[in-house]
Amino acid sequence: MNPNYELDPDEVAYNFGFLDEFAKREVRRAILKAIAIPGYQTPYASREMPMGRGFGTGGLQLTLALVGPDDRLKVIDQGSDDSVNAVNLRRFIELTCPGVDTTEATREATLIQSRHRIPEHPLGEDQVLVLQVPYPDPLVLVEPSERKRKAMHGEGDYSRLLTRLYEDIVQFEEITIAHRYPTRIAAHYVIDPSPIPRYDVPRLHHSPALILLGAGRERKIYAVPPYTDAVPLAFDDVPFRVEAFLDPDGVRRPCARCGATDTYLDEFLDAAGAKVYQCSDSHCCNERCLSGQQEGAR
Ligand SMILES: [Zn+2]
Repeated sequence: MNPNYELDPDEVAYNFGFLDEFAKREVRRAILKAIAIPGYQTPYASREMPMGRGFGTGGLQLTLALVGPDDRLKVIDQGSDDSVNAVNLRRFIELTCPGVDTTEATREATLIQSRHRIPEHPLGEDQVLVLQVPYPDPLVLVEPSERKRKAMHGEGDYSRLLTRLYEDIVQFEEITIAHRYPTRIAAHYVIDPSPIPRYDVPRLHHSPALILLGAGRERKIYAVPPYTDAVPLAFDDVPFRVEAFLDPDGVRRPCARCGATDTYLDEFLDAAGAKVYQCSDSHCCNERCLSGQQEGAR
């Protein structure tokens, strides 16, 4: 090796957004197709990322293909900005996208990458929400062959999914699906909306923000474009309903920290073994705690 040869820092640095420009263009083309055909699972050449599949590589590739130096990015996992998955993804994006600001405030973010939740604060037209998806196809529960599933999607034939929901009602007297609730987009394709709770499913309907879903392992991208119908599968006499968080007396449980009665609550056990309910959206909860303190101080 020539001892006079010095490495040019630009030469060894990561390409902005880690992915090469060709890969980013390919993801963007898949995004455009996904927006043009709402709910359709668009195949793309998912790249190897320096993290295990299943850790959000699909969402990450969407974010890296979209993010620019003027963006403000929020990364959450199960509603929290501080969980290991969110922190690792945020660090990776900071490392490979110099100049991109990160934020925890939902309303300040232009791009939000999330796992398992849609933020409590309503999203606007100038925001894009990226959801990490482990299993993109809701029909996988009822049909193992991908070829047959594609035909069923093409024909809008979801009778076997509806039968499954019906079997649930017969057995348990209600639909027991807690996460990944099958949702029909623009009156045709039914999507797996990623493992968001039922509570978040109505937020897909006519969302002003573009919602993109990426499955890295399964190599699929699909979209709920702004102001698009997103209707959970249900029956006329057994309508879709969200988690109610009622106590045995039928009263809505409040968040143990901020007292909110209009947010999605996580349930966990405290040191004494008692059940505690707390907002799953950590930023929203912190903000409400702060405003509560300020009001108390007045
Ligand atoms: Zn709270």
